[in-house]
This record gives sequence, structure tokens and C-alpha cells, in this order.
Amino acid sequence: MENETILYDDGVHKCIMFSFDDEEQAESYLAVNQFLIIQNNSGILIDPGSQSAFDEMYDAVERHLGVDKLKYVFYSHQDPDVAGSIAEWSVSSPAKIIISGLWSRFMSHYGLMDLDRIMALPDQGAKINFGENYIQFIPAHFLHSPGNFTVYDSRSKIVFSGDIGAAVMPTHNIYKEITDFESHLTLLEAFHKRYMAGNNFTKKWVHNVRKYEVDMIAPQHGAIFKGEDVKKFLDWFETLQCGGDIM
Ligand code: FE
Repeated sequence: MENETILYDDGVHKCIMFSFDDEEQAESYLAVNQFLIIQNNSGILIDPGSQSAFDEMYDAVERHLGVDKLKYVFYSHQDPDVAGSIAEWSVSSPAKIIISGLWSRFMSHYGLMDLDRIMALPDQGAKINFGENYIQFIPAHFLHSPGNFTVYDSRSKIVFSGDIGAAVMPTHNIYKEITDFESHLTLLEAFHKRYMAGNNFTKKWVHNVRKYEVDMIAPQHGAIFKGEDVKKFLDWFETLQCGGDIM
């Protein structure tokens, strides 16, 4: 399927990227990536997106895993393109909902009734076991949300980076993997300068991410960084002057 990309598959552990857009809104819509990590009979859904993407996303989880086997739904932050369908997922799946403690009480405004379903992340992040491996929630506060986390999957060595590394691309048809880092930067620059709060935060996040062996960075918008481009992106982001540095 053209809106599904297998990022990692070793036969036991699998990471899939989805690109479900609202086609009717193609002109005004910001292209969004959703992610599913599966190991054996268990799954973690990452940033499943808005209500307009829910039906397709639900069908995809059902097809690859079974919604009843969804163990966690993780939200990097509170934005509508990330968490807009939180109420739908809470009703339709047994999953625990993972989001920064800063945002849990706001989720009722998206229609989430049962706040006990939320596993609120503390500011320093958390590590959870997943199958034979682990998932680390790495703090990414103020990049851009004040309560924001990125996810490191220890088995695939992918960082699911939310809005960090996000490229503003009108549709998914351009490319899914970066082939020319320098030209891709032109799609990142304006977004990161305006949405990211400042260099003290970008530097701290890069420092934390470098503690892990990272093969891929998968943002919520735009294309995937692989291999050498991971290093190039971290070097760029580490020294970026943005937000308060330039306002
Ligand atoms: Fe956002």
C-alpha cells in the first residue's frame, strides 16, 4: 500500500509508518505520519492523529495487529494533528494512553472521558519494557510543546521524533526518505526556527539522543532521516538558533 512504509522488520519486531491524510483537505492540510510498533502480539501506536485519520488508522491497526492487542497509544504532545482522536482510541481499544502529565487534564476537551486510562509521563521521561526490548521516552520539552516527548525503540534503533525534524510538505507524494539532505533542509528551516523554543533546548535533546545508537529519525511530518543523515540532522539541530534566540 502506498501510504504504508515498513521502516523495520526482523520477523519478530516491526515498525510501520502510515501516511493517512484527509484527501478532501489536500490544499490546506499538513501531511502527517503515524507509526505502529509491533512485537509478537502486542503493539504501540505513536501519534495516531486527528479524527479525520481515525477510520483509516483503525483499519490499519486491525489489519496488522488487531486493535484489541494494542497495548499503548503514545502522544508526543497535545496538538490536534497528534491527539485529536484520543477519545476514539480510548473507546475502541484497550490501550493505555501515554502522554505528558502536563496535558492529561486537557484531553477531556478532545472528548476523553476516562482520565484513569492515561499513564502520565513525568518530566524526566520513562522507560517501559516492550517484549524482549524497551521503549524509552526521551524528554523533548519546548520542542515545540512545553510537555513533549520523543520515543526511542531499542530494537529498531529508531527515534520517533514528533515535530522535531518535521518538514512542511504539501503531500506525501514527494518522497518518504531523504535523498538530498541539503535541499531537504530548506523544508525544515522556517518551521524549526519558529516552532522550536530555543537553542538551549535543542542542544539538550541532541545530547540525550546521542546516548543511544540511532539508525533512523522518523518525524511526524515529512521524510525519514537514515544513516549519515541522522548525524547531519543532529549536528544541524544542535546548533540551530531558533525561537527565543532570534525573536
Ligand atoms: Fe505539534
